[in-house]
Amino acid sequence: MYYVDGVWYKPDEPAIFPEDRGYQFGDGIYEVVRIYNGRFYQWDEHMVRLERSAKELSLTIPTRTELTEIAHKVLRQYSLQFSEDAILYMQITRGVSERQFTFPSNTRPILTMYAVPKLRPIQQMQNGLRAGLVDDIRWLRCDIKSLNLLGATWAKQQATEQGVDEAILHRNGTITEATSANLFAVKDGKIHTHPATNLILHGITRRTVIQLAKTLGIPVVEEVFSVNFAQMADELFITGTTSEITPIIELQGTPVGDGKVGTIVRRLQEAFEQHIAIDRNS
Ligand code: PLP
Repeated sequence: MYYVDGVWYKPDEPAIFPEDRGYQFGDGIYEVVRIYNGRFYQWDEHMVRLERSAKELSLTIPTRTELTEIAHKVLRQYSLQFSEDAILYMQITRGVSERQFTFPSNTRPILTMYAVPKLRPIQQMQNGLRAGLVDDIRWLRCDIKSLNLLGATWAKQQATEQGVDEAILHRNGTITEATSANLFAVKDGKIHTHPATNLILHGITRRTVIQLAKTLGIPVVEEVFSVNFAQMADELFITGTTSEITPIIELQGTPVGDGKVGTIVRRLQEAFEQHIAIDRNS
């Protein structure tokens, strides 16, 4: 069932407001939360990021208590039908108004939530992906998890047309991230990733991986690095709610390191596996 603005709909029932600013302007925000073993993973972290995105866009959203309550109803509905690991999709738009560019003052936010099965990407995590380089032409507030995803979908489309699995984005020769995941490069035993500025999404998995790396004694460098540096890296990997920790074994037709999944990414994957297990049982 899909929860839209207080009403439950079946997947094939229309639940669209034509003048919702989400459709007309992408004027809204979203989160994708992992459901492992029937439980939300890192729920509070997603709520904190959602609230930040809302604040940045002066968007009024339901309280955390309200959102949590609805999310648990969605989860209960999901669990009646499925037992697979899943994702919860949550979207809040500025609401319905006559089409105008400035933010209307009298709208009510429209909340959409649903859960769908989503298996863990076991194969990709084990074998790695092939990636291509694509120009990062997205806007300059990638730290806001907004509904405007055309830049990212276009980049992913270009990667698909190049015959690879993922796009690694770069802005003027500086690597930013992937289309729906953050990027890490391993060089000489250190992990490098773009700093959490306006040019990337501040990934929750990114932060978890940085913490895990520190626990494992692997140095982390949050500084910008070039396309050339990524091409010379020993290992590359992406992180995200759905991709977890997935190695990139080929970049722009050239093997990354020796072209095999590296040892640091393996150690992080093991640590992440334990983290999920602890969170599952907590
Ligand atoms: N970067 C972008 C552009 C994303 O869209 C996402 C997730 O959707 C991420 C990074 C990873 O963020 P998280 O680990 O919070 O899922």
